[in-house]
Amino acid sequence: MSAPSAIVIGSGFGGLAAAIRLQSMGMRTTLLEARERPGGRAYVYEQDGFTFDAGPTVITDPSSLEELFALSGRRMADYVSMLPVEPFYRLLWEDGVVFDYVNDQAELDRQIQALNPPDVAGYRRFLDYSRKVFEEGYLKLGHVAFLDPGSMLKAAPKLMQLQAWRSVYAMVAKFVKEPHLRQALSFHTLLVGGNPFASSSIYALIHALERKWGVWFPRGGTGALVQGLVRLFEDLGGQIRLACPVSQITAAGDRVTGVRLASGETLQADLVVSNADVMHTYATLLKDQPRGRAMGRRLSRRRFSMSLFVVYFGLRRRHEHLRHHTILFGPEYKSLVDDICAARPLREDFSIYLHSPSATDDSLAPEGCATHYALVPVPNLRQPIDWSVEGPRFADKILASIEVRAIPGLRDDLATLKIFTPDDFRSELNAHLGAAFSLEPILSQSAYFRVHNRDAVLRNLYFVGAGAHPGAGVPGVVGSAKATAGVITEDLRKQGVDLNPGAGLDRSLDAA
Ligand SMILES: Cc1cc2nc3c(=O)[nH]c(=O)nc-3n(C[C@H](O)[C@H](O)[C@H](O)COP(=O)(O)OP(=O)(O)OC[C@H]3O[C@@H](n4cnc5c(N)ncnc54)[C@H](O)[C@@H]3O)c2cc1C
Repeated sequence: MSAPSAIVIGSGFGGLAAAIRLQSMGMRTTLLEARERPGGRAYVYEQDGFTFDAGPTVITDPSSLEELFALSGRRMADYVSMLPVEPFYRLLWEDGVVFDYVNDQAELDRQIQALNPPDVAGYRRFLDYSRKVFEEGYLKLGHVAFLDPGSMLKAAPKLMQLQAWRSVYAMVAKFVKEPHLRQALSFHTLLVGGNPFASSSIYALIHALERKWGVWFPRGGTGALVQGLVRLFEDLGGQIRLACPVSQITAAGDRVTGVRLASGETLQADLVVSNADVMHTYATLLKDQPRGRAMGRRLSRRRFSMSLFVVYFGLRRRHEHLRHHTILFGPEYKSLVDDICAARPLREDFSIYLHSPSATDDSLAPEGCATHYALVPVPNLRQPIDWSVEGPRFADKILASIEVRAIPGLRDDLATLKIFTPDDFRSELNAHLGAAFSLEPILSQSAYFRVHNRDAVLRNLYFVGAGAHPGAGVPGVVGSAKATAGVITEDLRKQGVDLNPGAGLDRSLDAA
């Protein structure tokens, strides 16, 4: 009997991780990607000699990536090398406060002491809390598929004990009092599309995760990590087809049978895994199926995350004082993120995440030059904004602000510039409402309440990526692939197909 076959739609980190897992298990796996290059949100732009990672730049939990190589006895270091980043982030406020978020406890204590001495002890208590949430929410539940209400009920007592109904900010505020520190310890949810004032305190786990494993950057950029994963998949015998948009998932009864490509070609498979946007998958790719239409209607009532406005720019000069990751907080915190997440009109004030990879790796810009991007959270497309008009104006404002606060002479040194707006998230990535992180990470849209790793009606249709459990962020979507591969292994076993049983197993706490 020949090995079962799988089609994975989309080559984001979730799709790549799923494809590698299935191929490692011995399935004949084909990965179909609509764009010219793999990576999804982790696309790469090359312009005027500069290399820009389009999306993720803060790589945490490298062990979740190493595991993808270890499944077939390989080593990640043979495919891509990871460089430590320190400080994790430099945080700057308009009133002149600077906080270097580092992993060294004594240095953290010194900086907290300078801001508010009682918060040194408060921070320790927050770290303890964050570690508990990390153990429950990440190590134990991050790779488990919540397919039925029973699985949620089982997790509920622990979630209650950890006060998961409270927001991240509320929990942080319980432990530390100083306003800058409260921001420094709560902004992380923004990295996965969540409002710190509304996302479940479960997301406080990101702090412990960073403290445990550090923050990393692949040599050659995040694109080099994507390339490493593609090479691994191909070395395993998997097939990747780029510039190959899927236009339909074909189905018969309660099973999917394969896909139809935009070119008209049809491909059959024993199962399909979608890494494409969840709304796009149901409402467009499955629009001919009652299940697709029903789920499309259901998802249209859900809350989708904020979008992002990104300015990629290359400078003819290097600025040695810059750190790899800088956050420039704006004058407002709560009202700003509330307005953005509620898709209210675009505000004139903003907070900026400034990426300066040339601080770690000088291969991304011509000699003597530097590569950057500035990322600003903005409302998703529920708020009608004409980005063709607003985009260039907003980019000017952002660059002017960075020039004053972090990079003197920026606009005189500009060598190249590219912007990416919410409209681009929709058109380039099929992202519903141009949301940068799919469904917003709130408790009522998490775990069992998120899109399931396996569809409840179409029994061989699976999901990985930001819209599925556990959610957005590189560790999240790589975890979703692990959860999904576990479900697929189990489903196949029930059908009498026993593939490589090692793949898709949960990492034990001891090994973590
Ligand atoms: C600017 C930005 C910065 C970020 N920074 C960080 C960070 O520093 N650290 C971090 O951990 N996370 C970060 N994130 C979040 C993280 O990048 C994402 O959550 C994650 O990469 C999403 O992966 P995914 O598996 O959901 O797939 P996606 O990246 O969403 O990829 C989905 C793929 O499906 C393809 N596709 C869609 N429709 C079709 C179709 N019909 N046919 C074929 N293919 C299709 C798309 O082209 C795309 O390649 C950032 C996100 C953004 C946007």
